[in-house]
Amino acid sequence: MAEIPILFERKEECCGCTACYAICSKGAISMREDKEGFEYPVIDKEKCVSCYSCLHVCPFKS
Ligand code: SF4
Ligand code: SF4
Repeated sequence: MAEIPILFERKEECCGCTACYAICSKGAISMREDKEGFEYPVIDKEKCVSCYSCLHVCPFKS
């Protein structure tokens, strides 16, 4: 079975640009605010089809 991508391990690896959220055609990514008010993407495992578009678009990974 294909793996659900890991968008970031640490918050330093995500600037909250929402590119992954915007690219996901399955609507599997939502942006959630942490307690400091910064938004980070969260993947819904039920909706994700492991296409990895979100990883390709992420400025921290390309
Ligand atoms: S791998 Fe594809 S379906 Fe899954 S969250 Fe990323 S863009 Fe969406
Ligand atoms: S594309 Fe990368 S940097 Fe931008 S919100 Fe998604 S995980 Fe964070």
